[in-house]
Amino acid sequence: RSKNPGGNRITFFSNEMNEQAMARLELESYLRKALQKNEFYLCYQPLVDLATGKTYGSEALIRWNHPKLGLVSPMEFIPLAEETGLIEEIGSWVLRTACMQNKKWQLMGMHDLSISVNVSANQFSQPGFLREVVKALDDSGLEPEYLTLELTESIMLRNIDYSISVMKALQELGVKVSIDDFGTGYSSLSYLKNLPINTLKIDRSFINNLRLNTSDIAIVKAIITMGHGLAVKVVAEGVETKEQIELLKELKCHYAQGYYIHKPLSSDDFEKGLLATPQTS
Ligand code: C2E
Ligand code: MG
Ligand code: MG
Ligand code: MG
Repeated sequence: RSKNPGGNRITFFSNEMNEQAMARLELESYLRKALQKNEFYLCYQPLVDLATGKTYGSEALIRWNHPKLGLVSPMEFIPLAEETGLIEEIGSWVLRTACMQNKKWQLMGMHDLSISVNVSANQFSQPGFLREVVKALDDSGLEPEYLTLELTESIMLRNIDYSISVMKALQELGVKVSIDDFGTGYSSLSYLKNLPINTLKIDRSFINNLRLNTSDIAIVKAIITMGHGLAVKVVAEGVETKEQIELLKELKCHYAQGYYIHKPLSSDDFEKGLLATPQTS
């Protein structure tokens, strides 16, 4: 940077830009290069069927390992990717990678394995989104019924009619649709019955504190009952204790995911774990 004889501009900028804004700009510039530099990878967290104890699939969770910053949480960079438009490319990479990986595992013998992929609001709203899903399925050879897309309630807040039409189109392809973090958004129960969904995923904030005689148990019970009534599957995320698993089984929750069962695993560890354990217990 050359010295400005007047000095005003440089001083102005360095005063105005607080550290936070600088850090954000830095993060953004790193994020722009992350795909090209192969800094992303996916972890896979097993999803188990509570009735059988069997792993029926996994949720793909993106990880970003930056050489200088180390591991950056998706809670931090996904919102930034949304704001900057980078989510388009990143989301598309996640979708393709997850479909390919799952197909590979099916070919290794885990024939009925499913994969769940998170889709953020800006990714879902893009006109090319459906085409991208079709392409990821075609290129990987994964059959649509093994793909679940996890959407959040924020998607529905934007343009409900458009969202419903895309969800319907996904289901017509054979892809499954799940509402992630259910219970934290503003969705009204009256429109839930009109939503084309296959799964409700109860937010982990309700599961983390789940104990007998707490208000959370009333909420979780209500969501599970509603799921049964609407003929959709219910998944509990964030299961951290044996007590929680037992309660969820009693409440007839279909599926569970959480640290008590498995943490998110590297693709290698997921593969080793599944091949080592007979999936029938
Ligand atoms: P999510 O989709 O609700 O994913 C579940 C999060 O809960 C994951 O955090 C997972 O590691 C964590 N988790 C699972 N079991 C437990 C548990 O027992 N206890 C606790 N405390 N946490 C548990 P993660 O991987 O940090 O991801 C955070 C969020 O970032 C995700 O929430 C999702 O909204 C977003 N995200 C992650 N990967 C992607 C992606 O590929 N695309 C998009 N658009 N968003 C993603
Ligand atoms: Mg999710
Ligand atoms: Mg969730
Ligand atoms: Mg969540």
